[in-house]
Amino acid sequence: MQRLGVHTSIAGGIHLSIERARDLGCNTLQLFSHSPRNWGRPEISYEAVQRFKELRKIYDIEPVFVHSSYLINIASPDRHLRRRSMDMLIWELEAAQLLGADYLILHPGSSSVDISEGRKRAKRVLRKISKRGRWKVRLLLENTAGERGDISSTVEDLAELLEASWGIAGGICFDTCHAFQAGYELRNAEEIEKLIDKIHRLIDKNAVKLIHLNDSKKPLGFRVDRHEHIGKGKIGNEGFRILLSNPAFSDVPVILETPKKTDRDDLMNLRRVKRLLRQKLR
Ligand SMILES: [Zn+2]
Ligand SMILES: [Zn+2]
Repeated sequence: MQRLGVHTSIAGGIHLSIERARDLGCNTLQLFSHSPRNWGRPEISYEAVQRFKELRKIYDIEPVFVHSSYLINIASPDRHLRRRSMDMLIWELEAAQLLGADYLILHPGSSSVDISEGRKRAKRVLRKISKRGRWKVRLLLENTAGERGDISSTVEDLAELLEASWGIAGGICFDTCHAFQAGYELRNAEEIEKLIDKIHRLIDKNAVKLIHLNDSKKPLGFRVDRHEHIGKGKIGNEGFRILLSNPAFSDVPVILETPKKTDRDDLMNLRRVKRLLRQKLR
């Protein structure tokens, strides 16, 4: 059975994310280990970690994905910001490891001046971190929407960045909204087949470790990262049905990052995905 979860809040304590996932009927989850919008690196208490691990075992939450801070930009032309980003990324790996998480997800970054130089800078940082230490937790690079300066919106970009991440990389996180924004047509079985074939050829047969299932507010190839409820955006129910029916994705965990005002939004989107998974095309 395909594992299904949502990005879950850690408000009130990191272990509460597991309770929330369970309340929503999820069997995998994604969380931030700290606030993704400031540079603080809070102490994670031993008790919270123990409780997190215990609950995870009891409720069979598997795998656990940690999403790294949005402030990290290892492609930045600003040396100071790049240095800070590298330190933060190392801290993120340590924190994810402490929690016993399986994967840490990273947006590889952007460079306002020269994109290919930006990619080179990101690769240098990834190589440095690869050499520095061994973590059990694996890094997943996420495909991004192709907004201004973005260095990682294509399979080719990810393949190049992963090669530089030899000591820490686990594969990729495939975000459907981002792929659609970057110009990948996900509503057509043949186009999806071509995309999967490219991932297998340029990266690996088992490269996709996670699907971020998000519908897209904007039309194909718009390069604007705006998530929408499943079935309510431009990918639509039919598009997701085609995508999820591809056998290459059938064992890959799915995490939703759809808009959320209350828990009810999560429940609604989870219900929609479950229905789509039941209605897979043969
Ligand atoms: Zn995502
Ligand atoms: Zn996004």
